[in-house]
Amino acid sequence: MNSTLKITLLGTGTSLGVPIIGCDCPVCNSKDPRDNRLRSSALVEWKNQVFLIDAGPDFRQQMLRTSVRKIDAILLTHEHKDHVSGLDDIRALNFLLRKPIDIYAEKRVQDSIRKNFAYVFSMIQYPGIPQMNLHQISPGSFEINGLKIITIRAFHYKLPILGFRFGDFTYISDTNYIPPEQMAKISGTRILVLNALRWEAHLSHNSIPEAIKLIQEIKPERTYLTHLSHQAGKYEDLIKELPAGVEPGYDGLVIYL
Ligand SMILES: [Zn+2]
Ligand SMILES: [Zn+2]
Ligand SMILES: [Zn+2]
Repeated sequence: MNSTLKITLLGTGTSLGVPIIGCDCPVCNSKDPRDNRLRSSALVEWKNQVFLIDAGPDFRQQMLRTSVRKIDAILLTHEHKDHVSGLDDIRALNFLLRKPIDIYAEKRVQDSIRKNFAYVFSMIQYPGIPQMNLHQISPGSFEINGLKIITIRAFHYKLPILGFRFGDFTYISDTNYIPPEQMAKISGTRILVLNALRWEAHLSHNSIPEAIKLIQEIKPERTYLTHLSHQAGKYEDLIKELPAGVEPGYDGLVIYL
């Protein structure tokens, strides 16, 4: 397909993934592959550049599932383990591409990476460790190889996180509050990927009703929900409950814009 923007949802599950170890609920036992959710991540192919949003514990499996063999940059929303713990596996990309991987994150997220992956930054470099170049970003915008990416400040309870806008596509996960002045940056988005955990309210994530309310303010053409819990129900049931233009995301879903 001749498109300038291709988005692949690599993972659409909350921090525990779906199914959850040991859970006997109908969602965790579902035979529908759309109910199997790896931890949330997306691949954005835009004007011959490939960007990965987040690299959680399923990063290796997600990369094995895609046919993409290059990544120009990894963009991190925040430092929670379900979004960064797969970074050790960028070693395979280092071998393949013969270079360090560029990682874009806020200062606080970088501090967490330096602490949690201390061996990567230690004076004594053990052979074969991951090679990464950290680049600092903040709410506003930044450029990678001439492409402008807008960063949206949102809150995950009290933790500030970043959403990313690439042209008319916006990805925001792990939030339940977007300040009014940030909403202008999302305005005009045609495709939105937004987190929604479950029907009931949660301290740090949008519930499905809260996500719908936000979507009705943003008015994108299409929205895909991500970071879903088993408590959101089965894909086939959930899609019937959502308004027109809103659907549950699922792992492997490809969106063209
Ligand atoms: Zn998360
Ligand atoms: Zn379950
Ligand atoms: Zn989080």
